Amino acid sequence: MFPVSVQCPHCGSNLMDEGQLIDGYAAISLTLNYLGERTPLLLSSIYGSFRYASKCPVVAGDFTELLCPHCERSIITDSPCDVCTASLAMLHLSVGGDVLFCSRRGCKVHRAETDDLERSMIELTRAR
Ligand SMILES: [Zn+2]
Ligand SMILES: [Zn+2]
Repeated sequence: MFPVSVQCPHCGSNLMDEGQLIDGYAAISLTLNYLGERTPLLLSSIYGSFRYASKCPVVAGDFTELLCPHCERSIITDSPCDVCTASLAMLHLSVGGDVLFCSRRGCKVHRAETDDLERSMIELTRAR
């Protein structure tokens, strides 16, 4: 169990929020764009953790857009999920490499060079 650090693939901003702790470490700060409303989304940065925090209830199966809270550009890519064909979201790992994960709630498919963030995203897509 150790924390990872991620950056925006567009502006390179550090997405770690030192003021928002989940599992005792800085959370990954993103903006969730769902049904036209933008709300903060925090993911645990701890390897193996399933914790996240969001005030926005997302209906299972719905597509969610994720934005960088700094440049407000979408981190959704043109790459489709192998299973459900929703677009994959991407973040840069500050240690190098990218992590891609499906943006559809309930879909646990991902392509990632590490599974750190993947585990957080699995929790994101679970029913609350
Ligand atoms: Zn950005
Ligand atoms: Zn999918």
